[in-house]
Amino acid sequence: MEQHRVPPDTPIDLGQWDPNDTGGSQGGKAEARERLSQLNKELERLQELLYAEHKHKILVVLQAMDTGGKDSTIRHVFEGVNPQGVRVANFKVPTPKELDHDYLWRVHKEVPGKGEIVIFNRSHYEDVLVVRVRNLVPPKVWGKRYDHINEFEKMLAEEGATILKFFLYISLDEQKKRLQKRLDDPCKRWKFNAADLKERALWPEYMRAYEDALSKTSTEWAPWYIVPANHKWYRNLVVANIIVETLQRLDMRYPEEAENLDNIVIA
Ligand code: AMP
Ligand code: MG
Repeated sequence: MEQHRVPPDTPIDLGQWDPNDTGGSQGGKAEARERLSQLNKELERLQELLYAEHKHKILVVLQAMDTGGKDSTIRHVFEGVNPQGVRVANFKVPTPKELDHDYLWRVHKEVPGKGEIVIFNRSHYEDVLVVRVRNLVPPKVWGKRYDHINEFEKMLAEEGATILKFFLYISLDEQKKRLQKRLDDPCKRWKFNAADLKERALWPEYMRAYEDALSKTSTEWAPWYIVPANHKWYRNLVVANIIVETLQRLDMRYPEEAENLDNIVIA
């Protein structure tokens, strides 16, 4: 799984990454489903432990182009996990009140507390992606944000947060197929947004913005993973695997018993 991790201070050229990659796995979908269901069960166990220990805070950041699979990844990776232990925070176009504040204001309010897993469906990275590509603020304003973000995430990490950031990487071609599917499927039409076509037309600009974000903000304390996402089954496996392995490494323990419970008899 380390092959997907972006090392700190490394220039990223997305042309060198393959959105079709399946890690050489030939197993096919049935095997992937089996493996994912094992990971789901392990994640369920780890989440309970995380909650019981009440020490660590887990922040999962998901970024992708439209149709990149953020929602579907959340559904598949967290299947079976206690809904009381996980929260999803969505970041849409900022409200007027949010725009009156600095861009991290709405984000900071949503970060996980002890024992909690929070998934960011989009995030503060929109403030160096859409905001940059769409010229919503001048370069001298967004240009400072990479440093802000690194410092912000460092503070969260030093205060007990484990941060994992995933860029679900699909190709331009794959997006075309998925947008077409939205048009063709009556149950998916509601998701189709004509404005997405305008973002699609800016694909090269978005890739440059992603490359900069990935290069400048993958740190020891908050690494980015580039997840090949043309194949949904592989995307789910990569994300689930990285989250499970990271939680396992936290070496969590159930809290100490307050008193000796061995001799207790329930009348
Ligand atoms: P969706 O996730 O498809 O519901 O769309 C949410 C939209 O909000 C996307 O087009 C994002 O680019 C946009 N968005 C999120 N954060 C920001 C931001 N800080 N500034 C401008 N647009 C944003
Ligand atoms: Mg959308």
